[in-house]
This record gives sequence, structure tokens and C-alpha cells, in this order.
Amino acid sequence: MSDCLFCAIVAGEIPATIVSETPRTIAFRDINPQAPVHVLVVPREHHPDLGALVAAPDGLLHDVVAHAHQVALAEGVTTDGYRVVFNTGPHAGQSVAHVHAHVLGGRPMAWPPG
Ligand code: 5GP
Ligand code: ZN
Repeated sequence: MSDCLFCAIVAGEIPATIVSETPRTIAFRDINPQAPVHVLVVPREHHPDLGALVAAPDGLLHDVVAHAHQVALAEGVTTDGYRVVFNTGPHAGQSVAHVHAHVLGGRPMAWPPG
């Protein structure tokens, strides 16, 4: 999709620190990390939010979440624990309309979040 920041990262038009890739998803470090591990996992295909990702065919939601877990394993945070967050819509503070899973770890995190 034109004018989408994360589509531009997927296309390599905007640089990002890529962590790992799968055929349908890509993981890269958040530019403004909120924890020692803060990685974003996105589908290569443009879907605006979690509802669209749920409706996407062929288990794309599963691929995104499975990749998020793979990132947590690779970053070594599964023992101490980690958080996967899909901010969805304005009340949640979603600022990029290309669905993304935040993978956060490496420090204790409060609940509920602010
Ligand atoms: P949201 O607020 O939509 O849940 O999350 C968007 C995330 O994208 C934020 O955590 C923000 O720091 C990150 N972000 C915004 N612009 C860029 C960028 O150009 N590169 C990378 N790697 N992350 C970005
Ligand atoms: Zn996009």
C-alpha cells in the first residue's frame, strides 16, 4: 500500500534493523524501544489492524503470532517472560495502520499497562 510506513520497510525502501524473516512476515527492532527487547512483527501484506489480520486467509494471524514467539525465543526472553501486544485503534494508541505485534521483554512489566 502506498504511503504506509511498514509497507515501505517491508519493501526495503526505508531502513530498519531486521531481526528475522519468514515468507509471509518480517520482524524488525522498534525505533523507540520501550524495553531491552522491543521488536515489531508484521505481515508482508498490508492489513490495517488486528480485525483485518484475523479475517486474512490461510492463517496469516497464526504466522504473525508464531513469528513473535520465535523472536522471543531467539532474544532469550521466554524464561523470564515477555509480552505480545497488538495496539488496535485510537484508545490503544495505534499509530501505524499496518498491523504489527509488539514483542516486549528483558525487564519486568507492569499490569495493567498505562
Ligand atoms: P503503535 O503505536 O502503532 O502500536 O506502534 C508503532 C510503533 O512503530 C511504535 O512503537 C514506534 O516506535 C514504531 N515506529 C514508528 N516509526 C518507525 C520507524 O520508522 N521504524 C521503526 N523500526 N519503528 C518505527
Ligand atoms: Zn502497509
